[in-house]
Parts: sequence; structure tokens; C-alpha cells
Amino acid sequence: MLFYDPFSDKWYEQIEEQIDFRLPEKISLGDKFIVSYPFVDLHTHVRLNNGEDYNSLTKAAIVGGFGAMNIQPNTNPPLDEWNVLNDHTSLSKDELVKYLYTVNFFGGISDISTGPLDIQITGFSTDGIRYNSQELVESYRSKKAALLFDHSQLHEVAGDFYTGTNLPNAIRPYSNEAIAINRTVLLGLEFGFNKFHIQHVSTAKSLDEIEHLRRFANVTCEVTPHHIFFIPEMIDNPDQKINPPISKDRDLLIDAVKKGFIDTFSTDHAPHPEKPNDFERAPYGSSHIEVAFSVYYTVFNDLQLVIRKLTVDPLRVIGRCYEELGIRFPDDLIILDTEKEYVVDSSKFYSMGKNCAFNGYKLKGKVFGVRINGKWVYWNGTFIDN
Ligand SMILES: [Zn+2]
Repeated sequence: MLFYDPFSDKWYEQIEEQIDFRLPEKISLGDKFIVSYPFVDLHTHVRLNNGEDYNSLTKAAIVGGFGAMNIQPNTNPPLDEWNVLNDHTSLSKDELVKYLYTVNFFGGISDISTGPLDIQITGFSTDGIRYNSQELVESYRSKKAALLFDHSQLHEVAGDFYTGTNLPNAIRPYSNEAIAINRTVLLGLEFGFNKFHIQHVSTAKSLDEIEHLRRFANVTCEVTPHHIFFIPEMIDNPDQKINPPISKDRDLLIDAVKKGFIDTFSTDHAPHPEKPNDFERAPYGSSHIEVAFSVYYTVFNDLQLVIRKLTVDPLRVIGRCYEELGIRFPDDLIILDTEKEYVVDSSKFYSMGKNCAFNGYKLKGKVFGVRINGKWVYWNGTFIDN
């Protein structure tokens, strides 16, 4: 087995001779198996109330190789009071993966540093919340500056898909996202905010805007598996109805990743119980944390790039290290099988959301083993009881 260290960007051969892994079975794994750090996702949704709970999300995350998730605030009730965040922290504290939290930018918490110490808060977030310019200004005015995760959208402008396709309700102007990014950053700067993480960038126009805004502010950004995999012509079922919509700019987003312009890969794992088979009525979102690594590896075919964008780079955005999250290599690690090919079948997901945009697609590369706290918990497709 090879070990790839994303911190030093170095490869190490025959890692099993240097670290005693005590593999769950006596086999020798060849060089198509890669050891690395557990992934970090800056953009995950949990549902509760009979939807995805911490138990199912933890299992899904482990299958996907993720060791830490940054939960977005659009839960029910939303993450905008300390007692709600306390409830979530108690529900998740015994799980095998780590949960970080964002705070609803439009709620009652004005200073994220004033909460209980055991809640790991990374910043404010606008994700999943409908807001207008006036509400944005009021929040900037009343909140203490912190990192802001922004789902950039002019919610007052209608449309489920970008204009220019035959998809239902394809009336959202293509410039919507870029204008919203500009609004968020320029208004924020005026009120003392200086760190912005633009979530799920979907258009090339947005990249131009971010490049411009980086002259004035610290602006990081992420892409998601669906925006670098699909173009509108590939949309044929409601599980591919996602916000922001799939755009024609997929290849430009891929180029931007290769050029180092995009800071991180996120999942935007958005589980829903059965979606209606109707574009108009279907909610937005795709459940895919279990296959996110495979999508990225299939598209980029560059393991170093994919591992870095799922480990060191998201940590840099939130200014944390693994130790602060309670993740310690080599007690915590993953093994990737870089040659495994498979067809996505969401009916087999551990996630309660079966609404996967990638259903039926063939992907390459899969998480093979996951070790947490020095114990193997997942191996070759099954969970191991400890
Ligand atoms: Zn989201």
C-alpha cells in the first residue's frame, strides 16, 4: 500500500511495514490501495424529524471516507439559537465522526464566540435560507464579524433552472449567482466582515466575480460533485434538481479546479425521503456523500488533487487542524481502492436519502477501509462491529 500525505504532498511506499495497521483480514494490499487522512466536508445537511439523523449520516459519511462534517443551518428548527445547537451537539457527540456547525446568519445569535465550548462552530451560513438584500444588510449590521459561508442567490428572482434549457421553470437568470456573490462580499466588507466562503459555485461568471473580489477580501470557494459532473443535457430526473442548478459551465469549473482557483471540494449532501417524480414539485438536493470521492476521482483522475481538496484545503478554509477536530493519524485513516469501478445504486445507501443525482452512473475509485480511534470500522463494503 502507498501512503499519500497531503500536508507534505509526498508519497510513501509500503506503509504497512512502517505502521502496524492490524488489518481486519490477512491479505496483502497492493499499490492500487492508498492510505490517507479522513476527508472533511464543509457542506453537509442533516434533517432529523424522520429524515437523515446523526446515526444514518455517520454511517453514510464513513462509507464515503469522511471524518468530519460542517452542518448547514437549515434544519428544523434551524441552527439559530444556542439551545438548538446544544440539542444537535448532544445527538451527535457519541458518533464516530466529528460534527462541526454553522450558525444561521439570519437568526438570534449575534456573536458565535459566545456559545458553549463543546459546540464546534466554524462560522455563519446563509445556506438553505431564503433571504433578501435588506435582511442581509440587517444581519451584517447586527452580527460580530466571522467567516461567512454563503449560498449566493438572489432569492427574489424566480426560476428552478438557469435560462437557455428546455427544463421546466428554466427562467433563473444565469447571472443570478455572480450578482449575489458580489452583493454578499461588498456589503459584508462595509460592515467589517472579511472572510467569505462561497458555496457550490456553479457558473464561470461567478468565478470572474470571485477573482475580482479577491482583490478586496478573503474569498474562498468550493465546487460540488454534481456541478463538475453534469451539464443540463444530462438532467432527466428530479434527483438532479439541485440549487444552484446544474449549468453549462461544467468544463470551465473543472478547468478552474485544475488551475488552483477553487479552494475545496464539498459534497452538499442533501438527503430527502422519496422525491416526487415531478420536476415542479420536487425539492432541491441530492444525497451522495457515499459516492462523492468517487465522483471527484472519476472526473479528475488525479488522486493527489482530490485528496488535497478533501483534506488540507477545507481545513485551511476553516482555520483548523485535524488534532483540533479530534482526528489523529494513523489511529484515524482511510484506505482508497483506486481501481474499483461500480455503478451507483442509492437503494443500497446507508443514508436515509435515496435521492442521488448519480444513480445508474459508473464511477471509479472507492473507499475500501476506514479506521477510527485505532479500530477498523468499515472494510470492503461492510461495517465491522467493535
Ligand atoms: Zn447546501
